[in-house]
Amino acid sequence: MGVNLAMAAPRFLRLILLAFLAMLCAIAPAAYAQEAAQAAKFAPGSICHTSDKAGTTYDSLLADGSRWTCEGAEFDWEAERHFIRHDLTKPAAGAQPPRFAEFDRNEYEKLTVIAIEADGTQSSVSYGFADTQLGSSSLKSIVEFPQSATPPVAIVMVVDKSWWPETLVAAELVAEPSVKAKAGYIHLLAALLCGLFLAPIIFDLGYFRALRQSFPLFHAAFCLMAAIQTAAVSGLLPLIMPISYSAELIVTYFTLDLMILATILFAYKFIEQEFMTRRHKVIMLCAAAGVLVNGAVLTFFPEPFGLWIDRIYFGALCTLLAGYFYVLFSARAAGSRMAPYLILGFAPLTAIVIFQALTVFFVDPVNITEVTFDETWAQNLALLFEVVATALAVADRFISIRRERDRALDAARAMEALTEHDDLTGLLNRRALQSRFDALVEDGFTVMAIIDIDRFKAINDIHGHPVGDAVLRYTGDTLRGGADRNLVAFRIGGEEFLLMLRGKDAAKRAEARRRAISSRTLAEIEGLDSPVTASMGLLDFELLAEQQDVDFGALYSRADQLLYEAKCAGRNRTCSDTVEMFEAEAAAGRSAA
Ligand code: GH3
Ligand code: MG
Ligand code: MG
Repeated sequence: MGVNLAMAAPRFLRLILLAFLAMLCAIAPAAYAQEAAQAAKFAPGSICHTSDKAGTTYDSLLADGSRWTCEGAEFDWEAERHFIRHDLTKPAAGAQPPRFAEFDRNEYEKLTVIAIEADGTQSSVSYGFADTQLGSSSLKSIVEFPQSATPPVAIVMVVDKSWWPETLVAAELVAEPSVKAKAGYIHLLAALLCGLFLAPIIFDLGYFRALRQSFPLFHAAFCLMAAIQTAAVSGLLPLIMPISYSAELIVTYFTLDLMILATILFAYKFIEQEFMTRRHKVIMLCAAAGVLVNGAVLTFFPEPFGLWIDRIYFGALCTLLAGYFYVLFSARAAGSRMAPYLILGFAPLTAIVIFQALTVFFVDPVNITEVTFDETWAQNLALLFEVVATALAVADRFISIRRERDRALDAARAMEALTEHDDLTGLLNRRALQSRFDALVEDGFTVMAIIDIDRFKAINDIHGHPVGDAVLRYTGDTLRGGADRNLVAFRIGGEEFLLMLRGKDAAKRAEARRRAISSRTLAEIEGLDSPVTASMGLLDFELLAEQQDVDFGALYSRADQLLYEAKCAGRNRTCSDTVEMFEAEAAAGRSAA
């Protein structure tokens, strides 16, 4: 037995030792870990964050300080719940305790804001995405802290299913929000801007009607997009119509591209065509198509490109704009008057695009919120600049096109004047008489006198054609109204003239002119053996014209008949008559009576 025991004892001891060692192995790490897991301690003024699965509470994360990161803004994107703790124990001297957090707007399911007081008391308030108030632009959000008895020493934001928890690290905690009411002065300003953008559309439509050219329509499209874009980025859009956040984002992003598209197409049609080569046109159209595709991809299909989407978008946009500016500068160098307006007008917006592109390319996305400025209002003002510059350009072009057309019209009128005048005498011809007769009657010219030179054929035969022509020229000059605004003279045939007269003593004035032919030709033309005389048929149809529309043909043949009577009666005299109604009508009147 003793032997057995003596043999067994060391084995037993070894077993106990092993068990003890095993126990030690099991306990030691736990004991060590317990010693290492220190409760979270937050430095004054620190901003710390952590992430976990849905349902995790803030308190449960306090036990382990190592879980919190107090530098940078890198999150576990897979996690469903993020915690961002802003420590408030190092307030700036004299500063009011903050009551609001302002941050870049991004979609989330639920945001709970916990205010922690010095004695550990917690109060909280939760917001759905739609509950957050819009900030100074539609890309900014504001949430109010929960009410607490004493000013909080820390604010913890617990956000579920957030697209971009980094923005809560960059949140500004303020005593007063930068925008107070839901529709504040900032929205009023935005509405004013939108009005300014929409106003040129009315002029554009007017220009389009007057010119029948398409560039005012592209300008109108650009102005409309600028107005929508401003309404979207300023937060005006969700105030005036119910619109989902995703729809709002689509509008915000895509209208900018549509606006640039309209700008390019406007320039394409607007630049004087003589300064646009075929190559320029191709570049412009490619730039327009590229902007459309680029914008559509960013807005509707960004997923396949992941984090590269911004770089791809801005890289493409800058390349396309480079093409656009190349064409404008070439047109300018060739002498285009319109290109400088477009270069200048689009420059501020281009500067903003370049700034955004540089940010996207050269700033680490993690720190992006620290570097970017809020370009909302810079962009709105750049748009205002472009709208004003291009509206001036459209007005300038409208005026120059009108001037060109007026010049062409003047030339056409001059041509018409040539066809309505008689070469020899400079008087209006028969064609002019027919086209102006109604207007003359309307203006009160209701006395018609036909004057025919007596025995003119004999003058030609005796003195020759040149003397005949001279007789015609001086006769024309004698009959011409001169300063008399109540007389218009026409040469309606070889040696046949017609006067239209109005006003008092019309018949006497006509008669004086007829008689003056003799004295004038005698005085001016040498070698005439006998005075040149003329016969006249004069018809006063004032009473007729007062009652009814008059017919040129009927009046003319009546006056011609009077002239014939004057010839038959021995020439160098006047036969006149007054018509109240024509014979056919008079006869009808007589038979009726
Ligand atoms: P009456 O007293 O009946 O009017 O006789 P008249 O000889 O004046 O009339 P008639 O119609 O017989 O002759 C008109 C002439 O006028 C015939 C034509 O050769 C001439 N004549 C027409 N046009 C011109 C012109 O432009 N220059 C010249 N020199 N003669 C013209
Ligand atoms: Mg004659
Ligand atoms: Mg005649």
